Amino acid sequence: MELLEQRIRQDGVVKGDDVLKVDSFLNHQMDIALFEEIGGEFYRRFAGCGVDKILTIEASGIGIACITAQFFHCPVVFAKKSQTRNIAGGLFTTKVESFTHGKVYDVIVSQQFLGPEDTVLIIDDFLANGAALEGLIDLVEQSGAKLAGAGIVIEKAFQPGGSRIRAKGVRVESLARIRSMSEERGIEFEDQDLGG
Ligand code: 5GP
Repeated sequence: MELLEQRIRQDGVVKGDDVLKVDSFLNHQMDIALFEEIGGEFYRRFAGCGVDKILTIEASGIGIACITAQFFHCPVVFAKKSQTRNIAGGLFTTKVESFTHGKVYDVIVSQQFLGPEDTVLIIDDFLANGAALEGLIDLVEQSGAKLAGAGIVIEKAFQPGGSRIRAKGVRVESLARIRSMSEERGIEFEDQDLGG
């Protein structure tokens, strides 16, 4: 997605060899006009797949998921990173190792909000080693819901998550795919539209 790549080039900040900071438009301050373009693009790619629920993980996926849900006219469920006592009924639970914090989280979704009647689109901001996305896929599988696929804003294609998850047969659509990046050389993108 050209507009997104331009914005990453303009405002993204590379830290070390594998972390991209996009706090000015995605992860801290949020550019809602850009989010609308992103949501519309996810809709274009997944329209006709029968999506009736969007699943994401707190916190950074929530904003993008909500704007995307306006195109699909469906609810958003966000997986929570720690067990809270005030969720009624049973829980689907999985473990996710955080790329940015290096910790392992229990990630949960109430069984009230995900089930065999749902067709789910997973939305997240980044795909790196794939732990977050694999955790979300695991929750969908536990629930018996149908998985339409995953929409990712930025995939770091030089990290292994995307290839591993596509190899399992999951449709992963990433709007910007970074082939390589470094503080000295900046960011190089993969060719467009090869991510599906
Ligand atoms: P994974 O589980 O695929 O290794 O990492 C995905 C999660 O880690 C994303 O939900 C995102 O929050 C975070 N993440 C991974 N890489 C980056 C990065 O380069 N920059 C930022 N800002 N977050 C990242």
